[in-house]
Amino acid sequence: MQITDLIRPNIRSLQPYSTARDEYEGELGIFLDANESPYDNGYNRYPDPHQKRLKSLLSPIKRVEMENIFIGNGSDEAIDLLFRIFCQPGRSNAISISPSYGMYEVAADTNDVKMRKVLLNDDFSLPVDRLLEAADSDSRLLFICSPNNPTGNAFPREEIERVVRGFPGIVVVDEAYIDFSDEPGMLPVLSEYPNLVVLQTLSKAWGMAGLRCGLAFASAEIIGYMNRVKYPYNINVATSAIAERLLSEPVAEHIRIIKKERRKLAESLADLPFVESVYPSDANFLLVKVRDANALYDYLIGKKIIVRNRDKVVLCKGCLRMTVGTPEENQRLITTLKEYEEKTSDC
Ligand code: PMP
Repeated sequence: MQITDLIRPNIRSLQPYSTARDEYEGELGIFLDANESPYDNGYNRYPDPHQKRLKSLLSPIKRVEMENIFIGNGSDEAIDLLFRIFCQPGRSNAISISPSYGMYEVAADTNDVKMRKVLLNDDFSLPVDRLLEAADSDSRLLFICSPNNPTGNAFPREEIERVVRGFPGIVVVDEAYIDFSDEPGMLPVLSEYPNLVVLQTLSKAWGMAGLRCGLAFASAEIIGYMNRVKYPYNINVATSAIAERLLSEPVAEHIRIIKKERRKLAESLADLPFVESVYPSDANFLLVKVRDANALYDYLIGKKIIVRNRDKVVLCKGCLRMTVGTPEENQRLITTLKEYEEKTSDC
């Protein structure tokens, strides 16, 4: 498969905006090239359009070369760019597992691309054959979220690889929650598949949701197109500087505690009589099926505990999605749920 053939013709021939900082990359000098203010307040200069320092820190952490890394304003920027690069509005289609992260469909809709949603199997496993059967010659993107939001499960790598091998377009594997999983994810095999894009983010395990740093990993060719289509200075100076600092602060201990708490929380939830199912999770949240999701959701809101009501989501009827918090927060959640049980069993 030639990736170039999948690129929208206008993007293939796009002459990208060339920033002043593309033309001269040295750090020392008198900079009279970008119409900035000469008065230094820490932010008077435009940021590096290619985020080289941040990428040089990410490269050894992710074991991926810098030329294979894209950094966006959240994962959502990367998702939108992929539609703009690969899909012809009004003509191409995309495929996604369902239920899954809602932004794939929003990005499809804003780009006037039809989204074909393929239901997961009843046990939330990956419907490999049905995903491949959904494709036709206008299919450009196929989204698999692993671990999946909101179901929480990661899919075995061999199954995802079967989809990547069989799909005639770009397979986007969203690994926002991969740091909480025992699955290795797709980065170790990235170089084997020219049609694979892996999304990760600094928003979850790395604790930087407020900064908006999404990561995409792919062939240098695809990353090159993403860089050409993105806004020139998409990551600002403050975000880069803070992300660079926070990347040097280890998060392994937080991940270990969250995984331990996930197990404890799952056990405590499963003991509650109104809990019908706690689905296995490889992420930092649990999908929990309860007797009356809407009533429980409202009760928790009344107690100032906010979870996500997934009752209206396909295959998730009766389900709430609960993020694993600190040990104290999780304890509060369980105590509050026990009080709910006492209250409802009284009447
Ligand atoms: N992918 C998935 C599967 C998510 O659940 C989320 C956020 N909930 C994102 C991406 C968004 O990540 P970011 O903060 O990098 O935009």
